[in-house]
Amino acid sequence: MNGAVDPRRRVPRTDVLLADPRLAAAAATVGRARLKAVVCGAQDRARRGEIPPDEVLATALAELPDTAAGLRPVLNATGVVLHTNLGRAPLSPAAVAAVVAAAGYTDVELDLRTGRRARRGRGALAALAAAVPAAGAVHVVNNGAAALALVATALAGRGREIVISRGELVEIGDGFRLPDLLVSTGARLREVGTTNRTVLADYAAAVGPRTALVLKVHPANFVLRGFTAAVSVEDLATLGVPVVVDIGSGLLAPDPLLPAEPDATSALRAGATLVTASGDKLLGGPQAGLLLGDADLVERLRRHPLARALRVDKLTLAALEATLTGSETPTWRALRATPAALRLRTERLRDRLAEQGVTAEVVTAVAVVGGGGAPDVTLDSWALALPESYAAPLRTGNPPVVGRLDRGRLLLDLRCVPPDQDDVLRAAILRCLDRGGRTEMSPRSSAPSREP
Ligand SMILES: *Cc1c(COP(=O)(O)O)cnc(C)c1O
Repeated sequence: MNGAVDPRRRVPRTDVLLADPRLAAAAATVGRARLKAVVCGAQDRARRGEIPPDEVLATALAELPDTAAGLRPVLNATGVVLHTNLGRAPLSPAAVAAVVAAAGYTDVELDLRTGRRARRGRGALAALAAAVPAAGAVHVVNNGAAALALVATALAGRGREIVISRGELVEIGDGFRLPDLLVSTGARLREVGTTNRTVLADYAAAVGPRTALVLKVHPANFVLRGFTAAVSVEDLATLGVPVVVDIGSGLLAPDPLLPAEPDATSALRAGATLVTASGDKLLGGPQAGLLLGDADLVERLRRHPLARALRVDKLTLAALEATLTGSETPTWRALRATPAALRLRTERLRDRLAEQGVTAEVVTAVAVVGGGGAPDVTLDSWALALPESYAAPLRTGNPPVVGRLDRGRLLLDLRCVPPDQDDVLRAAILRCLDRGGRTEMSPRSSAPSREP
């Protein structure tokens, strides 16, 4: 840096920067306030000597978000297919296109042929009904928890009882517990059995005039092994009261890849009165709560006052319908990516990085379903291993890349990275080298730092 001139005096002025056509155009998508904040941030960094003054414009352009929302697209290299902190299921291209198309005015509640009011979300509901012929009727609410809240309120509120096994009193995450949710609706829980064993006689002894329903919750995020017993849906269906099955995961039909995961079709065929599930778990769609089952009961839920507070918006309906009718979801693809194909991609990435001076290793890895589902299932995978010092710069880069730390290394598992993003990932890794001082274990660590 030229020592004679104070670099702070060479930082370009805001109005000069904002006159750049690329920055000016960005105001339309990210908004003026955010644009200014990014520009000021780049100027501040130049004033602190972190970047040269002639790089302020390029820095501002690089740091400009793509949208006016703070949510940023992230490359998920964790190997966790449904990562709750990363928004669970990525939408399929079909669902994304449907969301964009539905973003403006749309015929969500209007029949364009007759000009009359129509059933809200009829396309999504029809697609869901077609996917699960065993269901007499279907309804969609905001999420799986909302589906349970609606069931408990409408069928068991005002002190009526929900009979539930002590082995199925589940905490779903972030401190939220299903029993607390159920009780908050005014329903009473009648707990039966023990943590590890519940038998049909336990339910039978508890069922009586105050029973509203028996609830079977799939213990989706843990495994109970050893001296255990649980009662099948078939057996619960003999009790003579409604049986509601919360399958959680959102599988609509059996999946040979996940034989232990319950699915809506099987639960209904086994005699469940109603099934509740999440749209953004194994179904691979938007956040939504699916209710499937007895037509009269579904109609009662649909007409309950609380249903209005839990209803889904047009974007969700569009995404859900397209998830059900469109092409394979990214979730489905990530679950089925073969270890051989992942290894090939990872080795190619390693080789191309090597050409550019980054040494990385290809190692075996273990991916999981995540999203509180299929805790027993592991998916053989491969990962690129980098020094741990890459983790923070990758996470804070653009796009952010989130991997997994393992014994002092950063593992990047390509299972949940769309194959067409491999080059984006490679560029993100290479950019870490340009960000001075934070990749001290990399072979380029002796490259001149930009720190003054
Ligand atoms: C995930 C889950 C829920 C909650 O569903 P959300 O869509 O996250 O609200 C409820 N029950 C079970 C068994 C689950 O796995």
